[in-house]
Amino acid sequence: MNTSLAHWLTDNRDTLLLRWMALLHDYTRAASPNGNGAVANGAADLDDQIVHPDEQSILLDSIYDGLICAADQNYEPLNECLRLLRALRLHPGEDELPQQLALISYLRRTAWALLFEDGPPPRAKRDSQEWRRLLDELDLLLEYTSVTMAEQWIAAAEVVQRELHETKLLVESLYHDAEATDRTTLQVSNLNQIAQGLSASMDRAQQLEIVGEKLNQALEIASLSIWLFDSNTRDLVLARGWGASIPPDDSVRVAAEQPDDLIARAFRLGTIVLEVEVDPALQGAWYAPGCAVLATPLVAQRQVTGVIVVQDPSPHGLQDRSQQDFVKSAASQAAIALENARLYDEVRGFNSVLEQRIAERTRELQLERDTLETLHDIALETTSTLDRDALLESSLGALAKLVGVEHGSIMLVEAETEHLIDCAVLGRKETVGYTRFAMGQGIVGWVAQHKKPAVVPDISKDPRWIELPRDEERHKTIGSMIAVPLIAHHQTMGVLLLSHDDVGYFNEDHLRLLSASAGQIAIGINNAQLYAELEKELHHRSEMFQRQQTEAIQSQAILQSLSDGVIVCGDDGSVLTANLAVERILERSIEELVIWNLPELLRRLLGRRADEVPIDELLARPTDERHAPRTFSTTFEMSMRMISVTLGPVLNSKESLLGVVAVFRDITREVESDRLKTEFIGTVSHELRTPMTSIKGFTQLLAMGSLGPVNDTQKEFLEIIQTNAERMITIINDLLDITKIETGSVELDMRPLHLAESLSNVMMELQLNIRAREHALSISIPPGLPLVRADARRLNQILVNLLSNAVKYTPPGGKISLEAREVGIDAVPEALREGLKPAMRYALVEVRDTGVGVAPEELERIFERFYRTENPLKVEAGGTGLGLALVRPLIQLLGGRIWVESTLAEGSTFSFVVPAA
Ligand code: ADP
Repeated sequence: MNTSLAHWLTDNRDTLLLRWMALLHDYTRAASPNGNGAVANGAADLDDQIVHPDEQSILLDSIYDGLICAADQNYEPLNECLRLLRALRLHPGEDELPQQLALISYLRRTAWALLFEDGPPPRAKRDSQEWRRLLDELDLLLEYTSVTMAEQWIAAAEVVQRELHETKLLVESLYHDAEATDRTTLQVSNLNQIAQGLSASMDRAQQLEIVGEKLNQALEIASLSIWLFDSNTRDLVLARGWGASIPPDDSVRVAAEQPDDLIARAFRLGTIVLEVEVDPALQGAWYAPGCAVLATPLVAQRQVTGVIVVQDPSPHGLQDRSQQDFVKSAASQAAIALENARLYDEVRGFNSVLEQRIAERTRELQLERDTLETLHDIALETTSTLDRDALLESSLGALAKLVGVEHGSIMLVEAETEHLIDCAVLGRKETVGYTRFAMGQGIVGWVAQHKKPAVVPDISKDPRWIELPRDEERHKTIGSMIAVPLIAHHQTMGVLLLSHDDVGYFNEDHLRLLSASAGQIAIGINNAQLYAELEKELHHRSEMFQRQQTEAIQSQAILQSLSDGVIVCGDDGSVLTANLAVERILERSIEELVIWNLPELLRRLLGRRADEVPIDELLARPTDERHAPRTFSTTFEMSMRMISVTLGPVLNSKESLLGVVAVFRDITREVESDRLKTEFIGTVSHELRTPMTSIKGFTQLLAMGSLGPVNDTQKEFLEIIQTNAERMITIINDLLDITKIETGSVELDMRPLHLAESLSNVMMELQLNIRAREHALSISIPPGLPLVRADARRLNQILVNLLSNAVKYTPPGGKISLEAREVGIDAVPEALREGLKPAMRYALVEVRDTGVGVAPEELERIFERFYRTENPLKVEAGGTGLGLALVRPLIQLLGGRIWVESTLAEGSTFSFVVPAA
């Protein structure tokens, strides 16, 4: 037999297991109540404990397999299996180990039985050794198994022992904890009650009561006191106490800075102070000698507000941490509650202040609203009405109502007198205009003059106050007054004043209100006054406009009713207006004329002759050097009609040009009658000359005595007849000449002449007269004087006329001078230059005398036919007034111009130019 135990066990697995199980079963059954073997009992127990036969078989299987492995030196599966077997025991008992050992012993018996089944040990020595070795190994293995079981059991038993000990300790600790928990629960409940009590109250005294009472009850101590910090005195003051030896009132104080006092120390440190052995000498009156002291600060929000002091002769309670914590918790709750109560008080205080402020503010706002409404009403009134009196009344009424007064008025400054006059009186329309103050007079006058408001608390004490007679009702002498100036655009319009029977009635608010309204009212008054003035001005202007319109209509009517045609043009020449007559005269519709401008119209009508009415020149220079308006006129022919046109400027009062007026007149008939008249004068003159020549001739014969002797008287008469006949002939000759000129039938023999020669002829002619009147005569003719181009007879006629006038109109012994020189056109007065050639040279002749002179207004008229001035020599000089009327056209015919300068009673200078040859 050569097999290992492992092999043997494996080979006999089924048999052994089956037998082991059966043996176990048999012993189990045999272990009846009558049985007495311990093994039998153990097997029965094992059977009981291995609940199910399948599980039992699995267990035995796994033990068996573990044994096979162990036989092969792998002990772990067996150990594991045994651990499992132990683990299956719910409550390891004292009998467990024997049971397990019995189980192994059954297996041994089963194995032994199987080994001995084949008979006694083999005979062969080798096989016998093998057999014995197998038996030994089996026993060793089972022994090992039993030992392991025992070891495991002992280990398990130790564990159980240890666990038992621990459990005992745990139970003890639980007991202590339960005790502490009970205490804590009590404290928590107390704290909870304190918290509830505190949260239910906001009253400091109540809160102190709750905390103190509860602590006192819970702690079972000798005394308890609560101290609060007074920030004003920096003392800790006793607020409430319980128990013995607590001072009866709250007069006990401890200075917070007291160095050794336990309360002060706890307060300063902000932590619990516990002192078992206290020196009474260092403590205040609060200390009960022989007691231990626990001082706990009241801390809320890191601020110490007081201290809770607990005193007890036994220090143990005070030393207990949980007691201290309890006091600390209660103190912290109390501190927070007290702080909350303080904040609550503060908030309540704030609230009441706030409510008070709100009430005040509401009142102010109400007043402000009323003020604004009044100001708005006034503003509305000032902007919506231009009726001054209505504005004053409503503003005054509104302000008086707001201020709460019944007396007041608005006084305005009268422009003429600068006096202040009542213009609106509160509730008394009938007294308006009754009161009057000069500027500076009375309070009102002072306000107006200084442009400053015045609040007079007591009018009877104000030096500015003026008593007005007979006016007790209106003019109160008691109470107070307020007056503000009404100023618009820096000008004082008036004063608004309100008064009240009470002294000192008016305040700053009233002043602000009135000052604020015053500006508005002043502007309103100003607007109303401006409006009134504007209305007046408007009325005035509308009247003026109507008048002007009427005048314009009249002017237009006059213009239209004129028989002369009138066209007015603006300063640019455009036609502005024309009358109906012009349509007829110019045979053109007004519409057509209006389209044109006047210069163009004149050019069309006059052709080249338009130069005679130089409209452009007139527009450029409407007045001459004497500021007299310049006029130009000429005539032109149109459809067999003669039309004269005269241009003159239209000037306004400041001599500035508005335009030009052209007057057209149909002068066909005048020209015709003039022609007829000239023709008639010519014919008559001619017819008169022949008989006059006979009269002159025969009178001459008679006077010479050729027809018989004549006496002196007859001779004298004949000479008179002769003189008058000569005069008559002169007149007739002059008339004939004028007629000739007018009819254009003068024949001129123009040739170059020596002026000196002509002058000497004239001198010869007039020499006798000059000498008879004893005039001093001087003649000045420069040697280089050019020849003149003229008709010799006509030049002579001109010179004779001018010189004989100088002789005639100069009293005897006067001075007559004759001067000639060459000049340009510049020497001719500007007004006469027209028609002259600017480049032409002229000979200027000046005849100067020291005679009677001619008045300025007659200077132009002396050139009219038959015009003679009233002068001292008029009768003596004789004359017809035709000379100058002939000279001027004659000079013009020769291409020259004549003008005169004269001073009455001093002399005259007649100047003329004729073109140089
Ligand atoms: P008359 O025949 O009257 O002299 P004139 O035509 O020559 O007529 O002169 C007109 C008027 O002019 C005169 O009547 C005179 O009043 C005035 N007159 C003319 N020459 C002079 C002069 N040298 N001095 C003053 N008056 C004069």
